Amino acid sequence: MAYSEKLLDYFQNPRCVGEIPDAHAIAEVSNPVCGDVMKLWVKVDDGRIQDAKFKAQGCSAAIATSSYATEMLIGMRVAEARRITRDQIAEALGGLPASKIHCSVLASDAIKEVLKGF
Ligand SMILES: [Zn+2]
Repeated sequence: MAYSEKLLDYFQNPRCVGEIPDAHAIAEVSNPVCGDVMKLWVKVDDGRIQDAKFKAQGCSAAIATSSYATEMLIGMRVAEARRITRDQIAEALGGLPASKIHCSVLASDAIKEVLKGF
């Protein structure tokens, strides 16, 4: 199975890349399978995610899913964001080959981790 055009677009032009210097929470997650690492910064105000940025290293699926998931977070309520699943992220990007599912787990794990304290 090949990557969708949307996934390749998020890989080639990732949205929401960077750091938030005054972030309210930061999480870093990794998976050993392809050595993907994602770091996620969020600002949360009144139960809503005001801003989110990420940095990721890894395979194209990891970069694309991290970028898409980070973009999704902005403006979302914390309770709603906690319910984001890896399948939701993968499906929105046109699906992932079975061997790349772990890359979308990275993004959903980072979201759960970064929202732990809210
Ligand atoms: Zn990967």
